Amino acid sequence: MSLRLRLTVLYTAVMGGVLLLFGLVVYSLVSLALLNQLDDLLARTANDIILVSRVDSTGEIDLRTLPPFELSESVFVQLWDTNNRLRASSPTIARLDQPLDPIAYRSAQPVFTDAVIGKAHLRALTVPLMVDDRPVAILQVATSRLLVDSTQGTLLVVLGITALAAMSLVGWLSWLLTGRALSRLEMVTEAAAQITRADDLSRRIPEDTEARDEIGTLIRAFNATLSRLEKLFTSQRRFIADVSHELRTPLTVIKGNVGLMRKMQEADEESLSGIEMEVDRLTRMVGDLLLLAQAESGKLPLDMQNVELDTVVLEVYHQMSVLAGDRIQVKLSQIDQVQVFGDRDRLKQVMLNLVGNAIQYTPAGGIVTLSLDRAGDQARFIVADTGPGIAPQDLPHIFERFYRGEKSRTRMRDGSGYGLGLSIASWIVKNHGGKIEASSVEGKGSTFCVWLPMKSDTMGRFSRD
Ligand code: ADP
Repeated sequence: MSLRLRLTVLYTAVMGGVLLLFGLVVYSLVSLALLNQLDDLLARTANDIILVSRVDSTGEIDLRTLPPFELSESVFVQLWDTNNRLRASSPTIARLDQPLDPIAYRSAQPVFTDAVIGKAHLRALTVPLMVDDRPVAILQVATSRLLVDSTQGTLLVVLGITALAAMSLVGWLSWLLTGRALSRLEMVTEAAAQITRADDLSRRIPEDTEARDEIGTLIRAFNATLSRLEKLFTSQRRFIADVSHELRTPLTVIKGNVGLMRKMQEADEESLSGIEMEVDRLTRMVGDLLLLAQAESGKLPLDMQNVELDTVVLEVYHQMSVLAGDRIQVKLSQIDQVQVFGDRDRLKQVMLNLVGNAIQYTPAGGIVTLSLDRAGDQARFIVADTGPGIAPQDLPHIFERFYRGEKSRTRMRDGSGYGLGLSIASWIVKNHGGKIEASSVEGKGSTFCVWLPMKSDTMGRFSRD
């Protein structure tokens, strides 16, 4: 059953319930008022008769004392003695030889009842007449219920028709209104179906900026989900393209070398070391990708412990000075004692990446400066170089997977980079609750700054986003 139909049925049923209740109350009140009127009339008549009734010397009702029974034409009266003999009755029912109400006739108490005589529907009052607690006669007075019955019938018809009309109106209105409210929902469904059919995540459902209602919110939320999905799919597609691209080069080199060896019918040293180099490169890339996948999903296993960051910086400094040799001058400008809570090896990997890049991209004769200090409650590690800098159009993207600056891409491949280093560094720092920033002036050099929360406030507070 559609939502529209369900809501319409619900509203109509609620309306029906309310009207039924209302009808019952009105019907009962009117019936009660009308019956009370009849009962009053019967009680008054019975009272008038009882007031003037006398008993004769034989202990029976003295008929001479009774008023004429045709006092009121609409009321019928019967007087029965205790031997079930009809002693007197209204002239209009003179030929009736049975009690007006045969059932209540036996009652020991005055009682109002409904009775049917032939086709007539009567309201009857039966009163046993007593003298010294001894029953001497039974008085029955009755009147027609015709007016009450016809009023009740008319009321039922009026209430029924009104209820039906009101329910039809409510049903029609709710069908119309829910239809209008749900039509926008149908539009959303249709747009979603179209997007699925066309397999096009760039489409959006038109947003009505005026509509501040639930459906407007739904549309905005749906569009936001689409944007997120589109971004994810695009990045996934790009990622697959990047990986395939990066894999192709080493595989081509390996295949070339294998082909060469087959042709030469011998495994020459140069081809073998070429293959080995490419295999190493592939192994590193697969390892890096795995690490990145773990870091991005927040599942990077971190061996958390207290880390003396200054000793790590010193180690990196010594290691990288050897690597830089005479080509680049690596300097240590400032080193404060700083302790953080984190994974020592991963933090060292971040520093090695940054300093490695600085050395790699800075031309011979350049200077790479390292420093470690405190800035408020943060540890700050800075790597600055005097290299070519990073182009402004590259700067916002260098932390993305496989992103390589224009110059780096066109550089001779030295077998080291494939655009994952900074991405990994950024994720490791993020997983430690810190952040990494890059600034650069083209032609003058680049500066990378890593912020890490210091020990006291890092305990158990690592973001995993
Ligand atoms: P890779 O170094 O393998 O290319 P990274 O992720 O480490 O990948 O760096 C991404 C890009 O950022 C590099 O390709 C390069 O263009 C730029 N980059 C990083 N560090 C520096 C630096 N110190 N000087 C100039 N460019 C840099």
